[in-house]
Amino acid sequence: MKRCSRCVLPSSMPGISFDSEGICNYCRDYQKQTLKNEEALLEILNAARGKGSQYDCIVNLSGGRDSSYTILKMSKDYGMKVLAINYRNPFTHPIATRNMKNIKDILGVNLIDFSFKPGFHERILKQNLLALLKKTDPAMIPMVCISCKLIWKNILKIAKSYNVKLIVSGGNLFEQTTFKRVLLGGDQNQSLPSYYSSYIFGLARRALANYRFLRPRTLFPTIKGYLYSNPYSPMVRMKARHIDKIDLFHYLPWNEKEILGRIQNELNWQYPESNSGSWRFDCQIGHLKDFFYLKTLGLTEKDDFYSKLIREGKISREDSLIRLAKENEVDIVEIRKLLKSINFDTAILTASSDQFH
Ligand SMILES: [Zn+2]
Repeated sequence: MKRCSRCVLPSSMPGISFDSEGICNYCRDYQKQTLKNEEALLEILNAARGKGSQYDCIVNLSGGRDSSYTILKMSKDYGMKVLAINYRNPFTHPIATRNMKNIKDILGVNLIDFSFKPGFHERILKQNLLALLKKTDPAMIPMVCISCKLIWKNILKIAKSYNVKLIVSGGNLFEQTTFKRVLLGGDQNQSLPSYYSSYIFGLARRALANYRFLRPRTLFPTIKGYLYSNPYSPMVRMKARHIDKIDLFHYLPWNEKEILGRIQNELNWQYPESNSGSWRFDCQIGHLKDFFYLKTLGLTEKDDFYSKLIREGKISREDSLIRLAKENEVDIVEIRKLLKSINFDTAILTASSDQFH
């Protein structure tokens, strides 16, 4: 497989072209991310301190790597009174659940968890999976994760009930996947708010091409999901104008070694041995998404992520290739377990790539 000679994007990346030196257009057009700084972060934290009825801020916790580090920083380093919120996702990996319990015990924080109606998440996953299999459009693969996009509505409700003025998430600047943007008609350097307004139209166009996504029982949660999908999406910005919503790694450098070192030592944080990397093991649907991306595009979010880290000088190209060889190996056993749990035919796992176009 041909890859860019500077980053690791393969020739199957949507919209890619290479110049005479074999360098891709995404490397050529890349604008380095500019971080705010710790001073700006402290200003926001200090403004929120003592303002809520019991808590200074909310941290949205999944038990995964970056949200666990975020709560450690907020509670231990900055002395914020933190309320942790977790969506009880039926596909949460048991180790992520254990990590959350350890965090609660070690940091002494309160944790509120909420869930949707029984069977809701499973039903949406199954219906969107069926739609995707009838006509596999890689732009629509994120639809299998639509339920988790609905959590912001609940988080805002909890924030309002405790009068909390600050919500801190563990997002970083490199995980905004470029190929997903390109597939929906966006570009890699667009700002988050402008991207979220425009991609809803891209998504609507793609959904119209597959009527199976348009069944009312999936369509309405889907629309709501995209309107609320994250702190930068239109409804969240509109409905929570008086609540600051920030991502820790827009202020502090994202340093994998420091993050892993600290959470493992101080929070007894773990990830499954069967997982080849520490990123995104917390929800089992992740493996299924990787499977679809590999079948349709020959890449995953990891190719995109490491390419950005290379351009930012955070990892070498050689190390990225070694990691990709391991991490892009999908865990068929986990996917089979997941499909069985929703009574879904596992024959898709042995289908050839041609059947996905
Ligand atoms: Zn490149």
